[in-house]
Amino acid sequence: MIQKLPVQERRIVYKHVDEEGYTNDIECYLKNGGYEVMKKAYQAQPEDLRQEVLNSGLKGRGGAGFPTGMKWKFVDHKSGKPIYLICNADESEPGTFKDRQLIYQDPHQLIEGMMISAFANNCAQAFIYIRGEFINGARILENAIEEARAKNFLGDDVLGSGYSCEITVCRGAGAYICGEETGLIESLEGKRGYPRVKPPYFPAVLGLYQCPTIVNNVETLCQVKHVIDMGGDEFAKIGVKGDSGTHIWGVSGHVQRPGYYEIEAGACTFGDLLHDFCGGPLPGRQFKALIPGGSSTKVLKWGEKFKVKHPNDGQEYEWGVEDIPLDAISIGLCGTFLGTGGSIVMDDSTDMLEALANLNAFYGHESCGQCTPCREGSLWLEKLSGRMTSGKARPEDVPLLKDIADQVAGRTICAHGEAVAWPVQSAVPKFQDEYLDKISKQASGQRYNPAGYPLI
Ligand code: SF4
Repeated sequence: MIQKLPVQERRIVYKHVDEEGYTNDIECYLKNGGYEVMKKAYQAQPEDLRQEVLNSGLKGRGGAGFPTGMKWKFVDHKSGKPIYLICNADESEPGTFKDRQLIYQDPHQLIEGMMISAFANNCAQAFIYIRGEFINGARILENAIEEARAKNFLGDDVLGSGYSCEITVCRGAGAYICGEETGLIESLEGKRGYPRVKPPYFPAVLGLYQCPTIVNNVETLCQVKHVIDMGGDEFAKIGVKGDSGTHIWGVSGHVQRPGYYEIEAGACTFGDLLHDFCGGPLPGRQFKALIPGGSSTKVLKWGEKFKVKHPNDGQEYEWGVEDIPLDAISIGLCGTFLGTGGSIVMDDSTDMLEALANLNAFYGHESCGQCTPCREGSLWLEKLSGRMTSGKARPEDVPLLKDIADQVAGRTICAHGEAVAWPVQSAVPKFQDEYLDKISKQASGQRYNPAGYPLI
């Protein structure tokens, strides 16, 4: 039986987010114990720090969930080339808004996490690649870097340790695909943000300027500070087997209290999150669908059931959406992903075809166009779902949507192909009755009205 803990937040990286009186300047950070973990870390050997991160089981918080310690382990420290650290602050996945709070409200936590990670991986140069639209975020980070440099927390001979490292902020131009690590590297090199083919271009081997490169997300690098502070084994005790630490859930859409909540992995369920934290559905409405971890993750439908055998305890469960524990393992068993934790909630006022058309338009626009299945498939999905919402569709367009998506997933250079396909592949089987109903009503001249609102 999976232990269900009392519902409460466990703030680690978000400890000071929204805290009254807490400001994002270095004096406030130092008053709250800032840069003490870095001082401790610099007494250790870099390989020991890397081992702590490996022991912690920390997984990347940018969406893919790859183990951070493993990513670091792949770096060749004997290549003789410089090793670069890049903080991915692109945060462009629709429904995701957790990293920017760390940047706006606690930038020194990120810088400390980066300086520890850079030291652990023998990097003399680190970058923060930030989404172009986050102008204030870039300014806050640049200011924080200057403050840290003035106190010798970065730059030459940091705190007399003999170790030197610079951090440089680079603003992107707002392309979604530059959040993909190799697209980001291309952009950082001043080129068009085309994702690279893997292999051979695994960043740990051939990254920035063809040198070994580590790309970690903002939250991940903040978490590293706490891994080193408490030790990898202690950190691994937080959460569940296979998913340690906390997750920040950024909930948007049709709930009474949208916002961000940092919760220990597996400590509660989607039902707890949406009802206890977010106040439940809007008055008079019921939940209909949930996209759990950023818009590219597979949609869940209220009322569907999942029969799962949990690897952590060997038990079988039958869960509805509200029963799914908030950890990567349990969510994965239900056919979707934890992703970025950016949960988009839709209630029964939502026209699911409009919602899908909206996503298709986004992913069609953001395809870099480099490979054919994604370039052509995403545009066909956009056209087809647009046709369906404008009343010109045929019933056979519904399976055709899924057919096109099936031709995209798994056939592309980067995971944008999956981002294009997954919303369609998950939504069409679950909501095809609604789609067909809408199409038939359109054909007979009736207005489609899922919410039951009075039609004007
Ligand atoms: Fe570009 Fe799409 Fe191919 Fe990725 S999958 S490289 S975004 S065309």
